[in-house]
Amino acid sequence: MSKESPTLETIVSLAKRRGFIYPSSEIYGGFPGVYDFGPYGAELASNIRRAWWKAMVQEEVNIVGLDSSIFTNPKVWEASGHVSGFSDPLVECRACNTRSRADHLLEAIDVVADEKISLEEINALFDAHRKQIVCPNCGKKDFTEVRRFNLLVQSNLGNFANDWTKEPTYLRGETCQGIYINFKNVVDTVRVKIPFGIAQIGKAFRNEIAPRQYIFRKREFEQMEMQMFTRPEEAMTIYEVWRQKRWKFYLDLGFKEENLKWHEHENLVFYAKAAWDIEYRFPFGFKELEGIHARGDYDLTQHQTHSGVDLSYPDEASGTRFVPHIVETSVGVDRTFLAVLTEFYDEDELGGETRTVLRLPVALAPIKAAVFPLLKNKPELVAKAEEVFAVLKKEFMCEFDDNGNIGKRYRRQDEIGTPFCVTIDFDTLGETPELKDTVTLRHRDTGEQERLSISEVVERIRQASIY
Ligand code: ATP
Repeated sequence: MSKESPTLETIVSLAKRRGFIYPSSEIYGGFPGVYDFGPYGAELASNIRRAWWKAMVQEEVNIVGLDSSIFTNPKVWEASGHVSGFSDPLVECRACNTRSRADHLLEAIDVVADEKISLEEINALFDAHRKQIVCPNCGKKDFTEVRRFNLLVQSNLGNFANDWTKEPTYLRGETCQGIYINFKNVVDTVRVKIPFGIAQIGKAFRNEIAPRQYIFRKREFEQMEMQMFTRPEEAMTIYEVWRQKRWKFYLDLGFKEENLKWHEHENLVFYAKAAWDIEYRFPFGFKELEGIHARGDYDLTQHQTHSGVDLSYPDEASGTRFVPHIVETSVGVDRTFLAVLTEFYDEDELGGETRTVLRLPVALAPIKAAVFPLLKNKPELVAKAEEVFAVLKKEFMCEFDDNGNIGKRYRRQDEIGTPFCVTIDFDTLGETPELKDTVTLRHRDTGEQERLSISEVVERIRQASIY
């Protein structure tokens, strides 16, 4: 890394101070694993979704979008294996009752316990290292046995019995099941031919044992997933294509390559053909940002068996039917959000002053341009600035600010990553006749200013917003 990464505390403080992220239910003392996006956070998250959708649906010829519901028939989660097997290894500190993930405690002392290892194996590993493993809360070394804890979040939707927990419904633990169960609908109703993909963005819920590390691990979070349905024999070639495309996605957004790393899973689940993660250098080290998986025909076969509905694909070329293999790309909005704040956070010196600046790509910036009248107490300047604001906000998220001196207004916009500031001064009104109807456009990254007409400013922002 050319510059030192910001600490997590720095990011948390900026995100709170500037209205990006608030702890959920803060006035009631918070709620672990849940966070709210503030006004600028909502914009940034929405721009992250839009950038992903553009790359995955708009610019691809054979990927269509979907928006399936959070609730499904509970049989979906039985068929997928989540009811019986979607669990993490839990240990509890006997001294302070803090629950932790056994694999994460082992990882902290450099012992790899892949998430797929059996309960017996992880207990054996844990026992072998008990003397070194400390509770992250109280520092003691007195833990229970490791047990499996199911991550599915239960609900009583549509179940009015007192003992509804006997037959719960589930909030989805991942968005892709909604894609698998709509595979046949899409094939039957939209002109798609294999290989083709279905992409979806939506909320997912997991009873994470220890939702630490800020928005990296939440209990309510959002996934952006794409499932590509392929012929069995072409699955691995397509898998490689998607590995490269997803890597390039981050580079195109402006991430430095040295902050990204590949991680290959060692213990694959029995049906998987390959699993690689793209890791990002978060403030707490390299951790999974996105997973790219070759899942074989497991998902559609499971749903075909459990539902009794034929989910095979009629191959026109050969006149045969086959169950497609799946290549999946899966990334969280929240982890991307944290990676973006980390990647583009900067402190530098400008005009002899130290400033904090978010060097966000224009496409991701919550506010594209801020419009300032030079002086607040000159009605003719304010009126002209309002006129310019009205033009710009038709096309872009903009902000109007007449509060404080110009320098302060710039600093405020730098901190939220606004790439352009537009100032209306007396020349705009015609004090220097040849400058009438021109404004100053100030660039966030360099602090440089140029004099442009309003239509040139619109075009400049428009061009810069494309990535
Ligand atoms: P981890 O090993 O960190 O628990 P995972 O391997 O269980 O993650 P997947 O099930 O592959 O994650 O989910 C795909 C993506 O969804 C992850 O790469 C991540 O970006 C996001 N994601 C998963 N769990 C969470 C969570 N609890 N909070 C925020 N994002 C998450």
